Amino acid sequence: RHLPYFCRGEVVKGFGRGSKELGIPTANFSEQVVESFPSDISTGIYYGWACVGNGDVHKMVLSIGWNPFYKNIKKSVETHIIHTFKEDFYGEILSIVIIGYIRPEKNFDSLEALISAIQEDIEEANRQLDLPEHLKLKDDNFFHLPE
Ligand code: ADP
Ligand code: MG
Repeated sequence: RHLPYFCRGEVVKGFGRGSKELGIPTANFSEQVVESFPSDISTGIYYGWACVGNGDVHKMVLSIGWNPFYKNIKKSVETHIIHTFKEDFYGEILSIVIIGYIRPEKNFDSLEALISAIQEDIEEANRQLDLPEHLKLKDDNFFHLPE
């Protein structure tokens, strides 16, 4: 109902859940950005497009979940960009458009199960984002930052 949802904000330090160690770094949005989200947007995994600063637009998967750092009373929004970056980009402006929903949040019995679920999410995002109706949002004016 809220989709597509356009959003832009600073990338902040997360709470070190070790996403990077899993090979799946997630760029966390600041609390202010998260609070500006529709409060009734479902938690879970989404796909869409993302761009760092005025760089290229890449595919992404995004998780909206309960933030363990705040005893699960606040949401967190974390974007995994499907691209290999040379460097971290903390402090930079991340622009995203959230296009579609993949699945609800789940608990996994093992790290292996978690990682393979995320791999499947990434494959699903890849398939969906190649559809013409989703590809066209990649070129949306939203990603052409005013200087
Ligand atoms: P944190 O707990 O601080 O969010 P992560 O392990 O989730 O740590 O790593 C996130 C950071 O990794 C991002 O803030 C960003 O600077 C960097 N990064 C590098 N490549 C990517 C990528 N492909 N997608 C998202 N973040 C990335
Ligand atoms: Mg993170």
